[in-house]
Parts: sequence; C-alpha cells; structure tokens
Amino acid sequence: MMAKQYWSAKHGGYIKCPVEGCNHVGIIITTAHCRLEHGMTQEEVRKEYGLPTNVSKLNRKQIERLKNGANK
Ligand SMILES: [Zn+2]
Repeated sequence: MMAKQYWSAKHGGYIKCPVEGCNHVGIIITTAHCRLEHGMTQEEVRKEYGLPTNVSKLNRKQIERLKNGANK
C-alpha cells in the first residue's frame, strides 16, 4: 500500500494522529508511532480511524498544547 504521503505533513504544516484519544502531532506519523502507541500498522490505523488530520491551520501555541497533551 503506497500511502506514505498521507502520513507526512505538507511543507510547513503538521498532521495529527487519527486514532481516537491520541493527540500526537508532528510533521510525520511514523510506522513506529502506530506500532508502539497503538499496536497497529499505518494501514490498520487508516482502516479503523481514517487518515491523519491536517492541522497546518493551527497556530504554534495550539500545536504546542496538543503536543503537551500527548505527553501526559
Ligand atoms: Zn497515535
């Protein structure tokens, strides 16, 4: 399945992990994140939850808040 482009943000943007309750935000959602955090492959995550959400419209503070939330 060639869907890697969906798992990395466009230039200057961020994407948010689609898994319910997961607030992971970054420029890329890695296979390692899916496997370690959710025990799933990217494909399984996509089937279950859909593709990562583009959050490029969020400002830096909102993104930091999401990131901080993800670490709690
Ligand atoms: Zn996640």
